Amino acid sequence: MSGTPREIQLLKYKDDGSFDLDVVALQSVLNRDDVKDLPVVLFSVAGPFRTGKSFLLNYFLRYLHSPVFKGEKGDNAKPLGEDSEPLGGFTWRGGSERNTVGLLIWSEPIIKTLENGDKVAVLLMDTQGLFDSKTTMRDCSIIFALSTLLSSVQVYNLKENLQENHLQFLQLFTQYAKAADNGEELKSFQNLLFLIRDWSYYDTHPYGSKGGDSLVAKRFEVTKDLSTDMVELRAQITSSFQKISGFLLPHPGFNVLKPQFDGRLSDLEENFKTYLLELVTLLFSPSNLVPKKINGQTIRAKELSTHFNVFLELFKS
Ligand code: GDP
Ligand code: MG
Repeated sequence: MSGTPREIQLLKYKDDGSFDLDVVALQSVLNRDDVKDLPVVLFSVAGPFRTGKSFLLNYFLRYLHSPVFKGEKGDNAKPLGEDSEPLGGFTWRGGSERNTVGLLIWSEPIIKTLENGDKVAVLLMDTQGLFDSKTTMRDCSIIFALSTLLSSVQVYNLKENLQENHLQFLQLFTQYAKAADNGEELKSFQNLLFLIRDWSYYDTHPYGSKGGDSLVAKRFEVTKDLSTDMVELRAQITSSFQKISGFLLPHPGFNVLKPQFDGRLSDLEENFKTYLLELVTLLFSPSNLVPKKINGQTIRAKELSTHFNVFLELFKS
């Protein structure tokens, strides 16, 4: 890919409002000579509008470009970037509400050498307008399912708490996963991370991964007061993913509300930065850099667009 790194929209809309995959756009990212034969590790962030998804992805980008991630030594590693640098990357704090769903990928895969010497291509994917646009629930589920099927880790980004309706949405789209797994009893989806932003009940579940996992365990617990539907919902979600975990982030502080806020690190609360660093360190740790497998086969970059299209056509039919 030549030119400035940027986000690339992967959906091509037709006059009747339906969409196709923009194969050319996707291949421009994946068919680069140094990328095309590498296994892919795709991280996706999805969830409701204005929950800080794109903002977070931009800190992922910073971390992935830091010497810490690359394994280079240095005294001044700055894993989250420079203090006073405005936050660039995926378009964030987008003002107007979108009417169409977007699925975006960062144009520059980050090539990482794993501990065993193998190289992988790390890709980041953003979603827009999933729960709040005029798009039908069916289209939203298709996009959510598609991004989950293609990712090694799907970050389900939610504000304040993990509620029953968030789980109901997951159940809706796991039906698509069942359709995609060729009738084999494979868990089609890899890792799901419930990321709760602006968490405030830290007395009950502490910030970070420990509290996140305990919150998720609590929400998935099958207790006597759950209806049959609620029990079924939990079973269906757990049976679709290989791993489900949680993470609780504190509020970033009220600077984020100021019109002049440009995302710089120095405007964020210390506590938020501490857990943001914990999150990226965990998310991009060697154990999470799991190449994407579909039906047991490791997927190489050049093969991803074929799978993408197959899933999309399957879901649309
Ligand atoms: P997206 O629509 O989910 O992609 O949200 P954006 O990343 O565009 O962010 C929307 C707004 O939320 C921006 O003004 C951010 O500064 C702000 N923001 C980012 N992270 C957080 C967070 O963790 N909590 C809160 N309350 N606001 C955040
Ligand atoms: Mg966004």
